[in-house]
Amino acid sequence: MSGAVDRQAVHNTTRADQQRVTAQADENAHRIVVVGGGAAGLELVTRLGHRLGRSAAITLVESARSHLWKPLLHAVAAGSIDPGEYEVNYLAQAHWHRFRYRFGKMVGLDRTRREVRLAANVDEEGHQITPERSVGYDTLVIAIGSVTNDFGTPGVAEHAVPLETPVEAERFNRDLVNAFLSAQTQEGPVRAGQLHVAIVGAGATGTELAAALHRTTRELVAYGLDRIDPQRDIRIVLLDAAERVLPGLPERISRETLRLLGQMGVEVRTGAKVAQVTGEGIRLSDGSFIASELVVWAAGVKAPEVLRQLDGLETNRINQLVVKPTLQTTRDPAIFAIGDCAACPRQGTPGTVPPRAQAAHQEATHMARQIELRLRGKPLLPYAYRDFGSLVSVGEWNTVGDLVGGVTGRSIFIEGFFAGLMYRSLRAMHDQALNGTAHAAFAVMARTLARRTGPQVKLH
Ligand SMILES: Cc1cc2nc3c(=O)[nH]c(=O)nc-3n(C[C@H](O)[C@H](O)[C@H](O)COP(=O)(O)OP(=O)(O)OC[C@H]3O[C@@H](n4cnc5c(N)ncnc54)[C@H](O)[C@@H]3O)c2cc1C
Repeated sequence: MSGAVDRQAVHNTTRADQQRVTAQADENAHRIVVVGGGAAGLELVTRLGHRLGRSAAITLVESARSHLWKPLLHAVAAGSIDPGEYEVNYLAQAHWHRFRYRFGKMVGLDRTRREVRLAANVDEEGHQITPERSVGYDTLVIAIGSVTNDFGTPGVAEHAVPLETPVEAERFNRDLVNAFLSAQTQEGPVRAGQLHVAIVGAGATGTELAAALHRTTRELVAYGLDRIDPQRDIRIVLLDAAERVLPGLPERISRETLRLLGQMGVEVRTGAKVAQVTGEGIRLSDGSFIASELVVWAAGVKAPEVLRQLDGLETNRINQLVVKPTLQTTRDPAIFAIGDCAACPRQGTPGTVPPRAQAAHQEATHMARQIELRLRGKPLLPYAYRDFGSLVSVGEWNTVGDLVGGVTGRSIFIEGFFAGLMYRSLRAMHDQALNGTAHAAFAVMARTLARRTGPQVKLH
């Protein structure tokens, strides 16, 4: 007994000593602060923790407690995955990968004092969790992603659900399941629009959501909601102001996707400009009305408002921080921006790097190298975006897209099994960057087994 207590005391002392030594080392260490732990920021701090965690003080500032890779949000909304299986807890990730996690939302910046200002956090009952505070930096990387752009359309904020966070995606799924449970038990017949879902924005997010919803709503009914007739009562409408679905991708992908959506019975309305969203549905600018009690807004992105007035840093019309090819902001070489919130010039084009997961992944890798060069006093290198193509999952078994060849730069149309594998590889790369190859492979196996034994759709 006393041996065990002694061992515990020695263990505690060693840990306390280690923490003291780390704290002393930290006082003189270069302070790297990354704000935003999403697709780009979390990969960056994890990588930096491994490479520099013993010599530099690496801090992640993040307003959420856990991370879910954003391209999974449509699957959360449709109920085809359980977010808990995919979430990464920031505190644990920080502990395992030698960086610190500071829970808080960036609300301002003081470039003269080199401090990021964080808002206080309060819980649901209004009790303060963390106070307002500041975090000092020597090198700052801003990676706070993007939010949905409603272009000022009336009624969107009140009646449409954006798919920006796991909380919103889960809220939509809860509303969907509730609408089905209510239709099953209500006295009268199913109302017009009650089990209709209108998705505004036929980009990759909206299209994938429409296809996933087609499957999960039918599976939901198959679990015993016998008063609902899927053919008669469920309607999924995908709308876009552009003349074709997936307007940003090559035409052949649009055509094939449209064919697959049509086969499923998803209704596509292109050239449809939304004038207003109400509690009953969507009014289009031509005066027509689409009855739909559930509306998802997935049409366009902008960077968060906080960037607009961030101590004089240059921004563009959608609030993105303007950066040089080195990823440094134009007005402060100690501040970098990566991911969706950065407007980074795209080599050989007049435009900027697109807000996509593969860009976030590439920029995180490049940024880690830049920081090492900066700490060694070496010149920084320009980042060049490489487009490997785009893949869109249209239902469980269909993926379509194009792959861009490395040497020729030509795009090749792909679909089917191989396209599905490539689609999953982007997430696998993110998992691998966060947890290493072995962990990522085991996680895939565990989820596959869990899916074989549990329901294919989230039922609550
Ligand atoms: C539903 C959906 C589906 C998508 N599907 C695809 C796809 O199939 N393929 C593809 O390439 N791309 C896809 N994207 C785009 C892709 O997810 C983004 O390009 C990518 O996540 C950008 O990474 P990021 O790190 O810049 O931002 P994010 O991943 O959004 O991370 C930003 C982080 O910053 C935190 N944060 C925000 N504000 C603050 C603040 N003020 N203070 C502190 N922390 C803050 C957030 O909590 C978040 O953790 C999809 C996006 C969505 C929404």
